[in-house]
Amino acid sequence: MIEVRIDCSVGRGRFCGQCCMATEMVLTVEDVERIASLGYRLEEFAEVRRGFLRLRNMDGRCVFLDPETRGCRIYEHRPLGCRLYPLIYDVEEDTVAMDGFCPRVEEAAVLGSREEAIRLFRRFYALAVEAYRRYLSHGMRNF
Ligand code: SF4
Repeated sequence: MIEVRIDCSVGRGRFCGQCCMATEMVLTVEDVERIASLGYRLEEFAEVRRGFLRLRNMDGRCVFLDPETRGCRIYEHRPLGCRLYPLIYDVEEDTVAMDGFCPRVEEAAVLGSREEAIRLFRRFYALAVEAYRRYLSHGMRNF
């Protein structure tokens, strides 16, 4: 299993949160089910953009970002893509890379091989496509 370790703390209980601004994070079926099991309705945390269900933004930031601390309100249950970031997938090239947008990318550690990471991201996108198909069939309310 791929694991990405990065310290996002900026001290005094606050966090960087840069990657949570104007998020485009894609959601998988598993992400949706896990977050919904916490009591959130799909339309509260997801929106459809560019062919996927994605984390919803509110006031220009992820709906789960605490504006005071810039920490994640559902950290233990956050989407797979958030767990993997700043490791990202290039769909066209079918490869993985570290996202230079993250100010701490040089300090991030990826446990696992490149091949494992690529396999994980392929599964990730298959489950994201499934989430979108389910949304098309059932809508937000009956997902
Ligand atoms: S941009 Fe990087 S350091 Fe900042 S919250 Fe995201 S992963 Fe953490």
